[in-house]
Amino acid sequence: MKKITIVFLLVILFPIFVFSQDGYPANYAKEPRFKALICYDPSAEPDHVKFDKNAIEFFHKLSYGEGFLYDVTESLDDYPYERLKEYSILIMLNALPSQNRRDDFQKYMENGGGWLGFHASAFNNEQTNWAWFNEFLGCGPFLCNNWPPQPAQVQCDITTHSVTKTLPEIFVAPASEFYQWNPSPREDKDVRVLLSITPANYPFGIKDVVNFGDFPIVWTNTRYRMVYLNMGHGSEGFIDATQNLLFTNAFRWVVSQDPQGDPFKK
Ligand code: ZN
Repeated sequence: MKKITIVFLLVILFPIFVFSQDGYPANYAKEPRFKALICYDPSAEPDHVKFDKNAIEFFHKLSYGEGFLYDVTESLDDYPYERLKEYSILIMLNALPSQNRRDDFQKYMENGGGWLGFHASAFNNEQTNWAWFNEFLGCGPFLCNNWPPQPAQVQCDITTHSVTKTLPEIFVAPASEFYQWNPSPREDKDVRVLLSITPANYPFGIKDVVNFGDFPIVWTNTRYRMVYLNMGHGSEGFIDATQNLLFTNAFRWVVSQDPQGDPFKK
């Protein structure tokens, strides 16, 4: 094609491209519907950081269709309550609020903040020394884990909840390390356990073996706008479409409960 023809076509077609944007279905993204803050700790154990980086990519891909802006931070040090409250959801990837931001985080959650926590974002033991955090999670400290990371057969404990209703009742979650807690979140009257590891997996583990016990891995504490997901170890966290749907559902549900209104309906 001659140069002059290309220039001619560009001149003719340019206004068409410009005007065709008006009918573009994702045009709402010009005015984002809400903001998400993603926090991860690059100094965490390498298999946690691997998951975190995949998770950031996952939420990046989700941001187009869901119409939100997101920021990524390596700690909450620079996020006092006044900044945190600008976000409809805080996604904690294997990270806890830093010591100096515990009160800010608590205030954020007590004032309608949203939290989606993965894996070690709930890890706590005697040294953590943060009683409110256990009240928030609705469970006791870490009890035990399987090792090495393995796939697990999991079941939906509640099949009518927005987080689980589009999932198969039983499916296999990709390899991860999974934690048990004592007491189990199921003992908290305000917790709704959404997904747990089935007894068919026992004995679960090779080096570290879990032989029995109630094994919830996804739940919400209804006193807060939150969902905890125990997945989060290694590079397989996002290889499975069913599990990805679980993550999307959990994210959407937490955001949809925003006290300022459901941003997805804007
Ligand atoms: Zn882990």
